[in-house]
Amino acid sequence: LLEVSHLQKSFADKAILAGIDLQVEQGEIVVILGPSGSGKSTFLRCLNLLETPDAGVITLDNAVFNATKPTKPATLALRRKTAFVFQNYALFRNKTALENITEALVVVKGLSKEVAQEKGLAILKQVGMEDFQNAWPSSLSGGQQQRIGIGRAMALEPELLLFDEPTSALDPERVGEILHLMKRLAAENQSMIIVTHEIPFAREVADRVIFIDEGRIIESGPPSRVLDNPKDPRTRQFLNQVL
Ligand code: ATP
Ligand code: MG
Repeated sequence: LLEVSHLQKSFADKAILAGIDLQVEQGEIVVILGPSGSGKSTFLRCLNLLETPDAGVITLDNAVFNATKPTKPATLALRRKTAFVFQNYALFRNKTALENITEALVVVKGLSKEVAQEKGLAILKQVGMEDFQNAWPSSLSGGQQQRIGIGRAMALEPELLLFDEPTSALDPERVGEILHLMKRLAAENQSMIIVTHEIPFAREVADRVIFIDEGRIIESGPPSRVLDNPKDPRTRQFLNQVL
């Protein structure tokens, strides 16, 4: 489904991504772990062209993207196939819960208002937010806002869903409901790349766990191998801190 080769990105001459190669199969769930500042968010943002890489090629669904000089149509095409779920939800503050979802359907998918409305209501139901369609984001709890954030991404029916620490801003008692929603997507064979520090979730849901440090993939393998029997001392040290 996805092939990334030699993705590089520097900020102010500092290499943040030092050549990342990654392949993701259809239906695969990849969890990315790594210390703060290791480049996890930058990597995900480059995949969605929220950040322009300095070098590298992204192939998604057999379409090749010269990621370093993305044209506008190419950027839109890539964003139609990927969708991003943010740590801080990043909802439109001046739009209701339903409008947050329909807006994406109209702008990115080009649906008519009526069709988007119908689809948006169905999505709200799927994420358990049908009673809040007219609510403003500021009146919702973090968990409810993130359910809208996930609904907005799901509505685009992306080939690949990208999650950047979707539960790390939530109160502990709200984390479970979001992980539950993500498990449901996983059971539906949705391809996903998830940056998270939720190790038990990674163990249960991931097909593959990747450990990134200083902009490089240090370790990659099945969760049992990487989590229980890491080869690299940096992975061991990281796991000791988060477990
Ligand atoms: P965390 O676990 O804290 O979210 P991360 O692994 O996601 O960390 P990134 O957010 O990718 O790390 O950041 C990697 C490095 O790149 C950091 O040193 C950060 O300061 C730097 N960086 C990220 N975005 C920018 C930017 N737009 N301009 C300059 N430096 C940036
Ligand atoms: Mg980050």
